[in-house]
Formats: sequence, C-alpha cells, structure tokens
Amino acid sequence: MAYDPQNIFARILRGEIPCTKVYEDDAVLAFRDIRPQAATHVLVIPKGPYTDFQDFAEKAGDAEIAGYIRGVARVAREAGVVESGYRLISNCGADAHQEVPHLHFHLFGGEPLGPLLARKGS
Ligand code: AMP
Repeated sequence: MAYDPQNIFARILRGEIPCTKVYEDDAVLAFRDIRPQAATHVLVIPKGPYTDFQDFAEKAGDAEIAGYIRGVARVAREAGVVESGYRLISNCGADAHQEVPHLHFHLFGGEPLGPLLARKGS
C-alpha cells in the first residue's frame, strides 16, 4: 500500500489538525488517543512516512528505527507507567483493523489491562 500523505496522523505531524501532545523529539511524536481505551492511552508515531510496522521495519534506516524505539520507551517513562507496566500494540493491516495508515504504537497503561485479546465466544 502506498503511503497516503493526507492520512490523519500525517496531518497532525504537519500541524494541520490539533492533538494533545505528550512528547516530541526528532524521531517521534506522541499524543493522546481521542477515544482512550485505558487510563493511559497514548499513540506514538515516527516522523517518517511509513504505513505500518511491516513497512517501517523493511524500509526505514537503522537510525530511524533506533530513534523510534527509543522514543516509544521515553514516552512510557514520561507517562509514568514503567514501574506499573504497560502494553504496546501496533495494528498492521486489515485483520488487525488498522484504521490510520501511518505507523503507530498504542501505549496502554495506568491500570490492570486484562487479557491480550478478546476471542469470539470466550
Ligand atoms: P488503529 O486502529 O490502530 O489504526 O488505531 C487508530 C487510533 O487512532 C484509534 O484508537 C483512534 O481513536 C485514534 N485516532 C483517530 N483520529 C485521531 C486523532 N485525530 N487524534 C488522536 N487519536 C486519533
């Protein structure tokens, strides 16, 4: 899938749409999810144009990958969830119900998070 520069996170990166920013450096921007699903629910995005985790891991340079991963960890530290624990999820593609085609990790924490996945019929 080609990167769509009009996706909502690209527009947030360009400052065309507001966000509740929690952290920014050269490699990443982190902001609160507008529909939070945990006490702490932050989205962490790389600044480069990557559609999803697979695209990023296959195409980004080593410095970009290091900057992004370290940035995610910094966001967790600043959010105050390192001691209590947190969960990272990155939806990739249709079966994962990825809505926004710009790579993002959801960082969840601030409360016990329950099981990883809710399975049909369980
Ligand atoms: P995903 O299904 O992994 O692509 O998740 C996309 C996430 O982006 C959802 O949790 C949405 O609530 C969130 N989202 C969509 N638009 C915005 C926005 N303008 N600001 C913050 N979060 C957003």
